[in-house]
Amino acid sequence: MSSESPVRIAIVGAGPGGLTLARILQLSDIYATITVYERDPSPTYRPQGGSLDLHGESGQAALKAANLFNEFRKYARYEDEGMKITDKDGKVWLAEEGPFGPPPDEGEDAGRPEIDRTQLRGILLDSLSASTVRWGHALQSVEPVVSEGVNEYKLRFANGQEATADLVVGADGTWSQVRPAVIQTLPQYAGVWFIDLTIPKASPEISALVGPGLIFALSGARNILAQRNSGDVIRVYALLREPADYIDNHPDLIKSLANIEAEFKGWNESILGLIRSADPTSIIPRKIYAFPVPLPYPPSNNSGYERPSNLGGITLLGDAAHVMSPFAGEGVNLAMIDAADLAQAIIGALQPKPDLSTTKAKVEFQQLLSHALRVFESQMGTRASEKATESAGNLLLALSDTAPLEFVEKIKSFGPPPDAN
Ligand SMILES: Cc1cc2nc3c(=O)[nH]c(=O)nc-3n(C[C@H](O)[C@H](O)[C@H](O)COP(=O)(O)OP(=O)(O)OC[C@H]3O[C@@H](n4cnc5c(N)ncnc54)[C@H](O)[C@@H]3O)c2cc1C
Repeated sequence: MSSESPVRIAIVGAGPGGLTLARILQLSDIYATITVYERDPSPTYRPQGGSLDLHGESGQAALKAANLFNEFRKYARYEDEGMKITDKDGKVWLAEEGPFGPPPDEGEDAGRPEIDRTQLRGILLDSLSASTVRWGHALQSVEPVVSEGVNEYKLRFANGQEATADLVVGADGTWSQVRPAVIQTLPQYAGVWFIDLTIPKASPEISALVGPGLIFALSGARNILAQRNSGDVIRVYALLREPADYIDNHPDLIKSLANIEAEFKGWNESILGLIRSADPTSIIPRKIYAFPVPLPYPPSNNSGYERPSNLGGITLLGDAAHVMSPFAGEGVNLAMIDAADLAQAIIGALQPKPDLSTTKAKVEFQQLLSHALRVFESQMGTRASEKATESAGNLLLALSDTAPLEFVEKIKSFGPPPDAN
């Protein structure tokens, strides 16, 4: 950190969390440079996945802080908030038709509108200054180094390049390379495989079955979920409650749609149509991982790990900090509100412009920044622990031997969905 140059902020990971943070920091006039290092070689390198519902208090609030809510509204699908729960015979146990509220007036939030993940990433990327994201930079390690009595961080990437930063944010997802500097806990297998499938153009029958939003077909250790995306695309998840090595031991399972369907013997024909209609080349198996709850925040709690003071300028957000199973639909929402909160913590520490003229002043600034990061981590941990507990509970109910009974009861206990007005 030099008195001449701005504070260097390195964000690792260009997911929704990292990009939201970069955007909000760039909107402010703090004396800092913001760089996002991303492993993917380009923005179009891989499909970004399905549709996401953004919640008013988190995902939507973060987009407002990023001054991107009106941009979001161009893509938001308020009409796709419906949900249906059936059993394997196709009997409907619960049906909530969307939209839950009329599209709100300009700037107002309502309900949980859907947006494709690719569209969300596009909005965030387009909002950043040119060259903010360095593509093809897979972080391998981050280490503290002392320069003129002050801590800096050396980042090393798989492409052989290096970078130096004064503040490092790990927004690099489930297998974060930044995380070991902050906590020693690792995500654990959550007990379920998701096999992702895509129906590129839904037939009228499939479209009617899925309805305006989502269908959950639940029966014991097997679930089929299908979710409407923009256009006529439907994303299907075939869920298997099985050991972590299940697909390693049954490699043929993911070689054809027929083999996946064989896992759902005796299921209703129209629900099986969700598997049969998928693009056979779209099969992607995913093991679902989650942090054990309670989460290890503040980071010195529970784990027995005391972070050395020379790692004080490093923090985490989103899945890197608290990955959970998707059963509460909160992961993206938390990553984005974490980003908005962390941005405020960083902006608070950097405004007014810090005095960096002497080593003593720089050390004092580092202490101030480090304190702001610890306060943020504690708030993030409290919020994420609640959602992680909910998510773990929902997973057990959705895949319990008596599903869908308790899962439906739980959804009903929430009462009517939030209304627009
Ligand atoms: C099947 C499934 C369905 C889901 N559905 C929902 C849903 O409906 N609603 C919801 O809210 N959440 C959902 N989630 C969760 C959601 O996807 C995540 O919580 C969210 O993407 C987390 O955002 P993030 O920015 O923290 O991390 P990520 O989205 O994981 O982004 C991390 C970024 O870091 C990059 N990266 C990784 N390692 C490195 C490295 N070493 N160096 C540089 N870059 C790196 C990655 O390429 C990626 O771009 C779902 C998850 C799954 C698996």
